[in-house]
Amino acid sequence: MPMVVASADVERRRAAVWMLLLAAVTFLVTFDQGALTTGQPLFHELFHDGRHLLGVPCH
Ligand SMILES: [Zn+2]
Repeated sequence: MPMVVASADVERRRAAVWMLLLAAVTFLVTFDQGALTTGQPLFHELFHDGRHLLGVPCH
């Protein structure tokens, strides 16, 4: 029985990590206007293109 509880706990943590990563990527693509990607033109352009691809208004 403890194995089942531990496995569910691991799955819950894994899901939480994926949700945090998804939230971070969503923030970077939709709201970051260079605040976190300043000095990294590749990421800035990548997220900017993603913003246009998703139809998020930016300029
Ligand atoms: Zn734009």
